[in-house]
Amino acid sequence: KAISPFLDPGPRTRANSLAILQLSRDNLLPVYLQSPTGNHDGYAEGAVVNTRYGSFPHSTMLNVPWGSQIRASKVDTGSRGRKRKREGADDACRDATAASEKDNEESPAVANEDSTAVKKAVADTSGFIHVLPPTPELWTTSLPHRTQVVYTPDYSYILHRIRARPGSVLIEAGAGSGSFTHASVRAVYNGYPAEGQRKGKVFSFEFHEQRYHKMKEELSGHGMDGLVHLTHRDVYNGGFLIDGNSPGADAVFLDLPAPWEALPHLSRRKPQPPFDVKTAASGDAEAEWVSPLNPKKSVHICTFSPCIEQVTRTVSAMRRLGWVDIDMVEIANRKLHTSRERVGLNLNFDRGVNNSARDVDEAIARLTEIECRFREHAAKPRDGDEDMDSADEDEPAPPTGRGATNNDEAPPVAEEASETAPWLEGRLITRGEPEIKTHTSYLVFAVLPMEWTEADEAAAAAKYPLGK
Ligand code: SAM
Repeated sequence: KAISPFLDPGPRTRANSLAILQLSRDNLLPVYLQSPTGNHDGYAEGAVVNTRYGSFPHSTMLNVPWGSQIRASKVDTGSRGRKRKREGADDACRDATAASEKDNEESPAVANEDSTAVKKAVADTSGFIHVLPPTPELWTTSLPHRTQVVYTPDYSYILHRIRARPGSVLIEAGAGSGSFTHASVRAVYNGYPAEGQRKGKVFSFEFHEQRYHKMKEELSGHGMDGLVHLTHRDVYNGGFLIDGNSPGADAVFLDLPAPWEALPHLSRRKPQPPFDVKTAASGDAEAEWVSPLNPKKSVHICTFSPCIEQVTRTVSAMRRLGWVDIDMVEIANRKLHTSRERVGLNLNFDRGVNNSARDVDEAIARLTEIECRFREHAAKPRDGDEDMDSADEDEPAPPTGRGATNNDEAPPVAEEASETAPWLEGRLITRGEPEIKTHTSYLVFAVLPMEWTEADEAAAAAKYPLGK
């Protein structure tokens, strides 16, 4: 059975598999690549992704190495292909723009249904995109949001702290949009484990019916059926058993509005009042308690809550239910913006930072000068490996230290010799965001120790005899 492309995408793109199209730096589009249908005299390109950077028939993105740059199609798709064949035209570019609108309306599988975007897309055939293999990080950035999601800076830290590793069994609730699920599958995946080893698996719970169905469909499409067991359930009332049996979880992640309502179900023994839980296996108060946790390990948990009031209630429940080593962390993610700045003219026009040309004439004169030098530089014969990387080595060392990495008022530097390549002119400045704007959530971590039985003591004594 084909392994999930998230775990092993292979060297090249393939049909009926997920690819992430990178349209621009932060603009990612998940697409299932389809083979051309062959329904149009063998000339149809089949499905097409229309973007503001051009039209990209799936056929041009199939069986290429991951990471390839794909140029926008210079021809149109579907019916246009048939017309070309009939006419024997060899200039594929000819009248592409004029014909594009009509042909796109006829095209059987145009991904973008916004007609304005489609018109623009086909008119501009000069663009390109990159086709990337699916990873949890790219999926998090591009997935269809049905809820708030857990982002990479949070989940990478969480998975590390709850010790999710190949072979771990992890409980997650609620599944939401599946951002955390994908990252946790990769963390616990251990292929085909040797005899006696457990298979890494995620047991995920979601009580919202549509979200549950959508997620089920996505997991199948991503080849994760055998790796995630998704259950449609309200875990506050129903707990975490699967058909009355324990998943045997080593790690737990709760992204729920009221984690303290779910915590009693995550006990090793039936919780005492005031916790009021039915015996989760059967709903029968007298039946034997079945814990969803691995009895042979200390279990690590993280709860994810946006408000401090939720944190205090969660911590209180954890303390009373025997969890120890409780602590709280907030991940404060800070973006750094790096650019070059010159005295007199900052060419970094985007973001509106300190554009200090005195007037338009000065700016134009300076840009013209730079353009001339750029051309001269490009025309110069190159010695050895004098490329951008080696040129970088010649530049003055960038400023270091705290002031330099967050410096809104960097002191001016002398102009460099005019021989410097234009893109290396000016001083390298790195600015951090002045304040962290995005609070995601508070992460509460805790451990529920393993309960040692006499048999465990005897086994440990046999394995590690005293004095030897
Ligand atoms: N961690 C998810 C992700 O990264 O995409 C996002 C989770 S979302 C913020 C919270 C989810 O918990 C929602 O989809 C909601 O339907 C679900 N939920 C809330 N209460 C629940 C309950 N009692 N049992 C199961 N799921 C619940």
